[in-house]
Amino acid sequence: MATLARLTEIDTRELKGIGPKTSEALRELGIRHVADLLHHVPRRYIDRTQKAPIAQTPIGEEVTLIGEVSAVTNRRVKGGLLIVEARISDETATMKAVWFNQSFRINQLSQGTLVALSGVVEAFRGSLQMKSPDVDVLSGSSEGLLTGRVVPIHPGIAKLKIGAIRRSIHNALNRSSPIEDVLPVEFKAEHGLMERDKAYWSVHFPDTLDEVAPARRRLVYDELFRLELALAVQKRKQMAESSGIAHAARGELVSSFLESLPYRLTSAQDRVLADIEEDLTRQHPMHRLLQGEVGSGKTVVAVATLLRGVEGGYQGAIMAPTEVLAEQHYLGVRSLLADAGLSPDPIGHASDLGMDSLFSAEGPAVHLALLTGSHAAANYRDDISRDQLLDDIASGDVDLLVGTHALIQEGVHFARLGVAVVDEQHRFGVAQRVELKDKAGDVDPDLLIMTATPIPRTLSMTLYGDLDVSVIDEMPPGRNPVVTSHLAKQDESRAWELIRSEVEQGRQAFVVCPLVEDSEKVEAASATAEFERLSMLMPGLRVGLIHGQLRSAEKEGVMAQFRSGEIDVLVSTTVIEVGIDVPNATVMVIEDADRFGLSQLHQLRGRVGRGEHPGRCLLIADPSTDEGEDRIKAMVSTTDGFRLAEEDLRIRGQGTVFGTRQSGVKDLRLADLLADYDLLVAARRDAFGLVDSDPELAGYPELAAEARAMLGEDVEWLFVS
Ligand code: ADP
Ligand code: MG
Repeated sequence: MATLARLTEIDTRELKGIGPKTSEALRELGIRHVADLLHHVPRRYIDRTQKAPIAQTPIGEEVTLIGEVSAVTNRRVKGGLLIVEARISDETATMKAVWFNQSFRINQLSQGTLVALSGVVEAFRGSLQMKSPDVDVLSGSSEGLLTGRVVPIHPGIAKLKIGAIRRSIHNALNRSSPIEDVLPVEFKAEHGLMERDKAYWSVHFPDTLDEVAPARRRLVYDELFRLELALAVQKRKQMAESSGIAHAARGELVSSFLESLPYRLTSAQDRVLADIEEDLTRQHPMHRLLQGEVGSGKTVVAVATLLRGVEGGYQGAIMAPTEVLAEQHYLGVRSLLADAGLSPDPIGHASDLGMDSLFSAEGPAVHLALLTGSHAAANYRDDISRDQLLDDIASGDVDLLVGTHALIQEGVHFARLGVAVVDEQHRFGVAQRVELKDKAGDVDPDLLIMTATPIPRTLSMTLYGDLDVSVIDEMPPGRNPVVTSHLAKQDESRAWELIRSEVEQGRQAFVVCPLVEDSEKVEAASATAEFERLSMLMPGLRVGLIHGQLRSAEKEGVMAQFRSGEIDVLVSTTVIEVGIDVPNATVMVIEDADRFGLSQLHQLRGRVGRGEHPGRCLLIADPSTDEGEDRIKAMVSTTDGFRLAEEDLRIRGQGTVFGTRQSGVKDLRLADLLADYDLLVAARRDAFGLVDSDPELAGYPELAAEARAMLGEDVEWLFVS
């Protein structure tokens, strides 16, 4: 009996029939050992138990047909498009298949090749035709496996025929079976999961198609369960190894801050703040991800969180991904504090205002400072030097520090850092979290990570599975969703008309130029050309230009002009994507919008409709790909960032999402995070429950060994006690 853990130790070369060449090719598919091979599951099955002759193919449905290539031709048409056309025949009929700009088909489909074509059959000029079907070359596979049964089609590559892959997997299964089932029986019973060994056989070599779904379900559950088990153990370790601060209950400082706001918190903000307060009063440090769209009011929540630490005598820090954003945060927090009467008198006795004077007769005061690579500033002292500020941070004189992520790398030492807020998690991984912990000294600060990028729940449960998640899913009242429309390029003048009429009413507009991938320089040049063109098209309007090649002083100058209303229309590359707040801007025009990613489009759209006037977003595009078209449709149909994020995941596939993976998460080979969401929830609950009841997994050594072996180096350390 083989365990999966053991199978990760057997290189594919040790299997019968696999030599160095095949093993090399398998590596290209990400298959190193026997366990990998067993998780290389078919992407499709062809049911040959029922004959599917070409003559009886239903029109308009997705089908898989098998036939022999009887002729192949190719030709170029006007505009350079290459058309490859093949005739596919079986004993009942002949069908045509065409592909566009796929020159490799010419070699792939020589006469006499046996192929399976998957796609939709159309009736075309009296004959049957498939447009751009998927092709599986069947020749060369053991013909016996192909007739009268269900044929698995495993994903392959050109140099490794699917027949060879199929045989390798058959060998591997024969050699490994029965594969030990280490999953606790109660989970199997609860979810009605089939036996593991049977699942491997049925997924690779089913006798009937009905067997496939339950087999796959079992293996997907296993995969998700291993991942969630690793996350549960990671979280448990984090808790066990950390000694956090049990902050006291909310006091006067936070209350007076919240009461000073000119509005009431939304119920989403209230709920999130309650989550956070519960974390803060616990001994364990908080590790919470706060998601909320641009403008949903994360900043106030962050400041209230930080002030909870400050009122208990701790320091707080906010870290932003860029200097510009750090400065913007500093100014924002500074004015929030001033409005709440929490600012110290900036002159004179400021430096004497220590923690003790927080509640002195002069009223509470919070010492706020900014520290970035190029700036040092404070609200309690004009013209503070960098060295002075570092001293004040180290002595505890600074209550709240705003900076870039570099704060934790540079020579900054806090006297008693109690709460840290990180804005935008993407560049703040596990490694930085560890570093932050070291910075803070003997206690682990509570950590709140904020992001405006909506992450589908299914991803936050895996990628960020060791974090608790709170969502502000409600906008402050009075915001109108931005109305989005799609314009074909030939109708672009309607965009300029809209801009003109909005400007006449005193509003402003953004125009985002087409993406240029070559270089920033080329992009700047094309933005400049577009700026000139638009200046001509909209005479009388004050048009400005901003792009990445400008020096930062120039950029700031242009932004200041736009903010103050001296510029009506800002033509821009995507440098404006992050953090620009001009409530008077109501129109966002994005050119060649189909070429932008969904999250980028969504971020850009978030720049308008932030004030009292409703926003409009115009996407100018003649989409040249299906994906581009899907993205435009998604943008027009919803403004809900979470729905867009799920749509993005669906369009792009999860592979690309994991391209930026955090440690602890390997590519999932079987699970589809959207389709298998229910299994993910079940596996997560089971895994976390198990670790709750048996933190060391002492009663489940095989489970721990399997997770360690299957998930690889990234999580190996988790299971070493
Ligand atoms: P985020 O950081 O999530 O992008 P901000 O915190 O910057 O959003 O808030 C955007 C704007 O909404 C700010 O001008 C803020 O003052 C305002 N705001 C925040 N919360 C509320 C609320 N509950 N009611 C009304 N306005 C709010
Ligand atoms: Mg913000």
